Amino acid sequence: MSAARSHVADDGAQNIGATLEFHGAAGEVTGSCTLIRTAKANILVDFGMFQGAPADEARNAIAPKIDFASLDAVVVTHAHIDHCGRVGMLPKLGFRGKIYCTTATHELLGRVMRSSARLQRARFYERSSGSAPWSRALMPGEAPGPAPEFPEAQRLFDTPEVRDTMDCIEGVPLDREVKIAPLVSLTFRNAGHTAGAASAEFSIGVGAARKVLYFSGDLGPERGALLAPPHRPARADVVVVESTNGERRRDASADTDQVLADIINEAATKKLKVLAPCFALGRAQLLVHRLARLHAKGLLHGLNVYVDSPMAVHGIESLYRNPEYLAPEPQRAVRAGEAPLWFPELHYVLSKRESMAIDRMVHGGVILAGSGFMDAGPIQRHLEESIDREDCLVLLSGYQPDGGFAWKMQRGADRAQFNGRTVPIRARTVRVEGLSGHADQDDLVKWFGGFGEKPGRVLINHGTDSARAALASRLTTEHGIACTLPKPLVPIEV
Ligand SMILES: [Zn+2]
Repeated sequence: MSAARSHVADDGAQNIGATLEFHGAAGEVTGSCTLIRTAKANILVDFGMFQGAPADEARNAIAPKIDFASLDAVVVTHAHIDHCGRVGMLPKLGFRGKIYCTTATHELLGRVMRSSARLQRARFYERSSGSAPWSRALMPGEAPGPAPEFPEAQRLFDTPEVRDTMDCIEGVPLDREVKIAPLVSLTFRNAGHTAGAASAEFSIGVGAARKVLYFSGDLGPERGALLAPPHRPARADVVVVESTNGERRRDASADTDQVLADIINEAATKKLKVLAPCFALGRAQLLVHRLARLHAKGLLHGLNVYVDSPMAVHGIESLYRNPEYLAPEPQRAVRAGEAPLWFPELHYVLSKRESMAIDRMVHGGVILAGSGFMDAGPIQRHLEESIDREDCLVLLSGYQPDGGFAWKMQRGADRAQFNGRTVPIRARTVRVEGLSGHADQDDLVKWFGGFGEKPGRVLINHGTDSARAALASRLTTEHGIACTLPKPLVPIEV
């Protein structure tokens, strides 16, 4: 913390007349939730879930100490659970205003909330009865009974609340200014992070007194092959910036296409089953795009690729419908009616039955499945089926939380446990760089180079304390920017 404090700004900068309260993601990477108060309005930016250990997830049930009925608006930067996962709780908490997100995020948000509700229900049944309620057998003549009750007190939200929430959502195209509260307007800017992901640019006040408060949301890398680089604002009075990769620097020499080409070549020659744990919105699309490019160069060798995630498929379709999120070349292709995220060997797996079938079927093929951390979702089933086989290759990429399944595999775990059954790990792991949807430290520092004049205040959130301190140190050294590292629930006047 001493390094963090040494970069804390004094309050010499001219204030814009707002108070910020961080109810999550201050010193950590999940649970994004920030309250903006001005003299005339209260606005919430993101309402994400805490993720990770069970103790972190337990925090989701505790509603933040916010008067939700008094909020003028809620702004959602993108459809990742750590930013939007608790939006479905808003009606129950008394919120009656509008929820703003980009039109592309609007298309995805209902599905994300419904799948989150299903997951909560499944977890509840697992905890209370040790199994999911829909998997019991019925004897001849035995009538199907109702599913066990999922008590109101145990659930954050369920399908009816998702419907109520969807009624409140207003999708706004990128770069269109919309008034959302007295003396506050909002413009979404492309964040380059995933389909629909945006930074939120708030304009507060009127005339010459108008001030700009810029929330980065999650920012993508500066030079991605698939997605457009993040918008660089020319000026802002106050910037709240994420720092997920605030202390990481990408290996610039890593040639992602070549590494993938080698893996595919080996998989085709030796008939390997390649498991690629992916997040449905983000890495799945980045990987499909890279594989499509290999196909175009004749380097896929006819290997079948299965996307085992309906949400990932929606993410792909979303990019076709919203090409403004794409980098210049794939954007040109989509606008010309081409399909940069398609190749003949690409198959969408849309049901659990198909997912189970490909486990048995695939010898010499690639399966993309969630979750990216390998601790949940269909990837668990594929791992259980194949992790003890020498003809299986697990492709790891991006950030892995300490102590998790993927983290341990990368560090030489030799056995895995599935529902009490222990199996030896014979599958090989291989790490592929260049598939992260987040800006690294160099990207973030460069992003600040885009400001015509230095922002009055910079607050760093959405990162561990060491990531925030590392980024703050470089911003101070290279741009002369003093940074504030907000603490949870401590109001900051800006
Ligand atoms: Zn994100």
